[in-house]
Amino acid sequence: MTAALPASTRDLMAKFGIEASVFTGGPMASFSPLTGEQIAGLTPTSAAETDAAIARAHAAFLTWRNLPAPRRGELVRLLGEELRAAKEDLGRLVSIEAGKSASEGLGEVQEMIDICDFAVGLSRQLYGLTIATERPGHRMMETWHPLGVVGIISAFNFPVAVWSWNAALALVCGNPVVWKPSEKTPLTALASQAILDRALKRFGADAPEGLSQVLIGGADVGNALVVNPKVALVSATGSTRMGRIVGPKVAERFGRTILELGGNNAGIVTPSADLDMALRAIAFGAMGTAGQRCTTMRRLFVHESVYDTLVPRLIKAYASVSVGNVLETQALVGPLIDKDAFDGMQKALEAAKAAGGTVHGGERQPVGPDTAYYVKPALVEMPSQTGPVLHETFAPILYVMKYSDFDQVIELHNAVGAGLSSSIFTLDMREMETFLSASGSDCGIANVNIGTSGAEIGGAFGGEKETGGGRESGSDAWRAYMRRATNTVNYSRALPLAQGVVFDID
Ligand code: NAD
Repeated sequence: MTAALPASTRDLMAKFGIEASVFTGGPMASFSPLTGEQIAGLTPTSAAETDAAIARAHAAFLTWRNLPAPRRGELVRLLGEELRAAKEDLGRLVSIEAGKSASEGLGEVQEMIDICDFAVGLSRQLYGLTIATERPGHRMMETWHPLGVVGIISAFNFPVAVWSWNAALALVCGNPVVWKPSEKTPLTALASQAILDRALKRFGADAPEGLSQVLIGGADVGNALVVNPKVALVSATGSTRMGRIVGPKVAERFGRTILELGGNNAGIVTPSADLDMALRAIAFGAMGTAGQRCTTMRRLFVHESVYDTLVPRLIKAYASVSVGNVLETQALVGPLIDKDAFDGMQKALEAAKAAGGTVHGGERQPVGPDTAYYVKPALVEMPSQTGPVLHETFAPILYVMKYSDFDQVIELHNAVGAGLSSSIFTLDMREMETFLSASGSDCGIANVNIGTSGAEIGGAFGGEKETGGGRESGSDAWRAYMRRATNTVNYSRALPLAQGVVFDID
């Protein structure tokens, strides 16, 4: 196995100080989607090691929670510095392991840097309210305290950014993290931990051992985090299928969750839309990352008055988009993660045809060895929103439908299980405001004149309904990583009871 390991991967891992012996020779194989060749064979973390890791993290919590938050922020500031220094290498590893284009791989690392910057500022802004009380000589306020161990379960398609969204906030909020990355992308996880280790070394003795740990393995290792009562918050990113299992299990022990699950994101192109802009936004939103983003645009509603202008142009863009090995060429669309993803895509296209759809593209492309799965993104003209259109297929398929009535299209837009991201292309103020209003898009992200994907870290990220309801990253998402206490202080000499209740004793 070691001999067969691609030299580029081995060299990159060496740059992170990780010896080949750490990620070769074990039974858990992982592959690069660029070629389908095996790039690692890891040994999964055992149940006993997992429990020990969680116990170590809990012990770390007991000291880390008492360190002043701005000092905790200093560690995250150093992490940001180390990430800046390692950006090229980690971005390349993301491309090797997840198949993202070079610019998207680097973009993912930039997102990690951005959230570190955000979290450092946040470390001086973990504000609570001061609240008016009804009792004289009293003061009421909220304080926010560290919560406990944060378990992170992440998906293959954002192999490192999701960890940083959680870890940067968790660490400044006073919580250790234990991370179970996707079994499809373990190397980027080991590299990210190595980068944090560099920051920890510079940070010094204030950081307890076990502040950040990585567990290697699949669903069973993830499950060990889910059921352990010492894990106060489980932040799980992945399919709705996974969330349906994880959510109730954590709820059963009254633990907290942040669930970031699947999306079935739509765009609406109205009669007043700037079609040139819409075309570019839809192309990136639907074909970027080979359709393997949770925010990928999967449904498109086009008004009948512009359908015949826009859709032929989109079909042309689909036919001409470059598909290839993203490290060897400038291709915009890289591979699917594996054969299962390819089979899922073909199955969905068959179902779409059976439901009356007209498929453009979707064929496998002869790129690289037989073990790699490259496809032309597919645009499917559908007569109505039925069959596979109602569910997320994690591949580049865009279902396009014609509409005539605005109210009806909003209803159709919301008539799916997922509720992650959405966008409208319009220059009409009434349509825009309606889409953003209480009776508009029911998603956690609603955009105007940009696509569904490519969120910035400053806003809270997440979605409603079957997307799980969690929020990560910016805005006040930090609150999920802390516990709130309401404090009432009596500085008077009397003891008045609230609501005028009398309880006098002799
Ligand atoms: P997946 O659900 O197969 O796996 C995600 C993670 O969950 C992996 O680490 C896996 O090992 C773990 N897991 C699976 N079953 C588990 C269980 N029973 N207990 C504990 N852990 C378990 O998802 P994937 O194929 O890696 O990623 C694609 C999916 O993730 C898509 O549905 C996509 O929309 C979603 N996603 C959502 C977001 C978001 O922020 N909403 C972001 C990225 C990806």
